[in-house]
Amino acid sequence: MSDNLNWLLVLWCGLVGGIVGSFMNVVVYRWPRGMSIVQPGSHCPSCGNDIRWFHNVPVLGWLMLRGRCFDCGLKISPRYPLVEALVVAIFAFLAGFEVISGGGNLPGRTLSEGHIPADLWAIYAYHLLLLCSLVCAALIECDELFVPLRLIVGTLLVGLVAPIFWPPLHPLGSGDQGAWIVGAFLGVMAGLMMRTAAWPSVFETVDAMRRRSEAAEQQQPRKRRKRRKQQQMQPKVGRKTQLANVYFPLVAVGVFLGWQGAVAVGCGSIVLQSVYAIIRRIAGRLPPAPLSAWQMLATLGYLVIWRIAVQWLPTLGPM
Ligand SMILES: [Zn+2]
Repeated sequence: MSDNLNWLLVLWCGLVGGIVGSFMNVVVYRWPRGMSIVQPGSHCPSCGNDIRWFHNVPVLGWLMLRGRCFDCGLKISPRYPLVEALVVAIFAFLAGFEVISGGGNLPGRTLSEGHIPADLWAIYAYHLLLLCSLVCAALIECDELFVPLRLIVGTLLVGLVAPIFWPPLHPLGSGDQGAWIVGAFLGVMAGLMMRTAAWPSVFETVDAMRRRSEAAEQQQPRKRRKRRKQQQMQPKVGRKTQLANVYFPLVAVGVFLGWQGAVAVGCGSIVLQSVYAIIRRIAGRLPPAPLSAWQMLATLGYLVIWRIAVQWLPTLGPM
């Protein structure tokens, strides 16, 4: 395939990423608050005016408005365009590394040249789903809210069921039938173990969760009054959701990428978090970042070095 066409493909994937990122902003805001993600359409929380479609264009819309509502001038958080830009980058970056390179990041795969085989696109979509879910989880944790169970269950369900129909989605252990079940099981176990092994951050997370629960309880009467007007209900957060929140990212990585991925991402994210903690201590005034944010970045990193990691550490290879 010619170079120009490759660039066009990367660009196109980036554009799709912009739309997905814009949708993710809606999901991250509305789902944990028990609101519908379809209705009502995007509107300004202050003046209630609908946002014009051309101001809703990912990243560019915010720049056009210079970060303020067109009607009332209310400040719009720069987080929205930043999330959209991040998702654009993930879509474009992974398209280059995984699809255009002919599977150049996948372990034990003969590189495809010229024509891009369909299974590469399927693997790309499979990995994007994992990354997008992890981005959503990290953003929701940044907001000190709980990742809704439907996001967790939906992601894990697709992660488990899709390889039944298309075994090549698991490059490791896809050689013989049924190996992926063992892989997914080991992935779940590795995810659980790594999360527990990171005990200081578990305590940190549990503390943060307790604070969140308390804050939610305190806010509820006031919120409920406010919400009743808009007919929205504050969902009750149960113990299951809390536990699922702690283990979700690594278990998802285990299900999608195998136990090797869960271990690698578990270690990588602890290193990233520690480095950031040191930088924060020195530089100060940096916002706290939840462990799930580092797990998301470590997953992206692992996907890029996957092939090299398996070459250098054959124990990470197919079982
Ligand atoms: Zn407004």
